[in-house]
Amino acid sequence: MWQEVVKVKELLNLPRHISILSHRNPDGDALGSTIALALFLQSYGHKVNIILPSEYPVYFEWMPLTEEIIIFDISPNQAEACIKQSEIIFMLDFNSLDRIDKLGITVNQSNKPKVMIDHHMDPEPIADFIFSDTTYSSTSEMIFEFIGEFGENIKNTKLIYDCLYTGIMTDTGSFHHNTSARVFKIIAIMKEAGLDDTRIQELVLNSQPDKYLKLLGHCLHNRMELVPELKFGLISLTREDYKSFEIQRGDTEGIINYLMMLKNVNVAALVMNQPNIIKLSLRSKGNISVQELCRDHFNGGGHKNASGGASKLGLDETVKKLKEVLPFYIFAN
Ligand code: 5GP
Ligand code: MN
Repeated sequence: MWQEVVKVKELLNLPRHISILSHRNPDGDALGSTIALALFLQSYGHKVNIILPSEYPVYFEWMPLTEEIIIFDISPNQAEACIKQSEIIFMLDFNSLDRIDKLGITVNQSNKPKVMIDHHMDPEPIADFIFSDTTYSSTSEMIFEFIGEFGENIKNTKLIYDCLYTGIMTDTGSFHHNTSARVFKIIAIMKEAGLDDTRIQELVLNSQPDKYLKLLGHCLHNRMELVPELKFGLISLTREDYKSFEIQRGDTEGIINYLMMLKNVNVAALVMNQPNIIKLSLRSKGNISVQELCRDHFNGGGHKNASGGASKLGLDETVKKLKEVLPFYIFAN
């Protein structure tokens, strides 16, 4: 897995100007892995910028370096200039350029070395060094090992581990899925080094505003549909819902998991009529691949049991299409 890391280490022999990028709608793993890597590289004297296509949810504001993150939606020129000046570009937690919107064009134009570290399926050949492995729970778990390749004397471990724990915790649904002996060994090492995991769970998971539960209640009471013959559960949010509940980034996080609590649901979908696009989140149990469904029909992807995509159709048409194609993936096995 890490054979080529020797060459990346050579690139980092001199202090460099480095950009670290992650995907739009950044989640705990996107932030955790990028911030941890930034802290690590800064401790070696590199000048590091974190660049994200869109804003992150407020419950990640406590993380280190967040106030320095360059957001393309807010500062497009600064983001592009930064990438152009970079001598090395890291791409974390994504594996195709359409995940970073217009920044993909700037990245594509750069002839500087690019390093991808990612755990999603079907990586595209968009980097010079590709560390891609779907057996990892999260990119944060991969960054833990990547950093370990540089030796034992890591500075800033406290802050770095807070970030990596955040990424591993959120991408495993608080150690519910994608766990492994490796994950628990890594957490044990962090714990021994003083990690306050309960504090991070409180900061990320138990810090929602009141409106979160109001929105959740609305989703479950008014917007939930169950299709028993497909063991399918669906929540769709209309444009009006976005207005009346003032839904912002991160507010819909976790809602889909309530559908997965049902014994009679094997596939769950959250279809969101966001202001500019229809966004889909899908989850499945067992052998049903929502990754293939999102890849084939909604210009998306992710993991076998957790994927996302987008649709240019209206909300009703998108739901109709989803119901039409779903049986092919449910009964494929
Ligand atoms: P979520 O449903 O939590 O937004 O995302 C679940 C998984 O699907 C994540 O691993 C995420 O990276 C991936 N994903 C979400 N939306 C998209 C998308 O539009 N395109 C691709 N390729 N992956 C996505
Ligand atoms: Mn991830």
